[in-house]
Amino acid sequence: MNGEFFLKKEASISVFDRGFLFSDSVYEVCAVIGGKLVDWHEHFARLMRSLDHLDIVNNFQEQDFYQVKKKLIKENQLTEGLCYVQVSRGVAERDFNFAKKSLLPTVVIFTQEKSILNNPASKSGIKIITVPDERWQRRDIKTTQLLAQSLAKTYAIQKGVDDSLLVQDGIINEGSSSNAFIIRDGRIMTPSLSKAILGGITRSSLVKFCQMNNIEIREQKINIDDLMSSQEVFLTSATGFVLPVVEIDGRNVGNGLVGDMVKEIQRIYLDHIKAKLS
Ligand code: PMP
Repeated sequence: MNGEFFLKKEASISVFDRGFLFSDSVYEVCAVIGGKLVDWHEHFARLMRSLDHLDIVNNFQEQDFYQVKKKLIKENQLTEGLCYVQVSRGVAERDFNFAKKSLLPTVVIFTQEKSILNNPASKSGIKIITVPDERWQRRDIKTTQLLAQSLAKTYAIQKGVDDSLLVQDGIINEGSSSNAFIIRDGRIMTPSLSKAILGGITRSSLVKFCQMNNIEIREQKINIDDLMSSQEVFLTSATGFVLPVVEIDGRNVGNGLVGDMVKEIQRIYLDHIKAKLS
């Protein structure tokens, strides 16, 4: 935290931190495999973009963050899981107006253990429901304003499924914490980048890796009918990688089993990722 290492139970921040009072903070989640970071460079670049969008003081260097992360992974003996980083605007008297205040940002970095390579959901697939997208309109900025996503995820679990897909005016945006892809008539499609969705790092890596394997992924608007008539559907995220979806709103996707194309895409993603761990 802010350049110092603490035991989990000893780390604390001010109640006047704007991250706490206003969700005035941004974050990144990077997967860790074999003690190494996945797509760290890309995650750092997005963190810088998020900070700049919100005009949070930004004197951060990629190498400094990298060294802290590597030290944390080592000290916590983390082999598989994630490394989380959050940067808030800083601590100030509560005031909606933050203009003209160059606050010192609060930086918190921690690790969490999580099974990624052997996550059973990547073999069995997951069940999802569609829900209205009730978030603010700058979803392209990775802020900690995650209440709508948290409610959507919890609602899905309460309904006995795994996750929610956020839909706006009949158009598919993304999962509660993932990007969405569909496969129809052999064509892979994903919603185009816009302010309506987060530009996922896993999404962009996958688009690139597929291109390298001569597999085209079309970025376009996808509506609910496209989704419901897909043969295969999958979600991508930093710690879920490529998760097949086998049921949507109680109806099977294709024959209700994990499809061959998504299995191939999982393989391509893993092969490429393993070659660029840092
Ligand atoms: N969309 C949303 C809303 C998310 O929260 C996430 C994960 N944080 C993603 C997409 C996937 O992004 P990434 O691949 O960078 O984890």
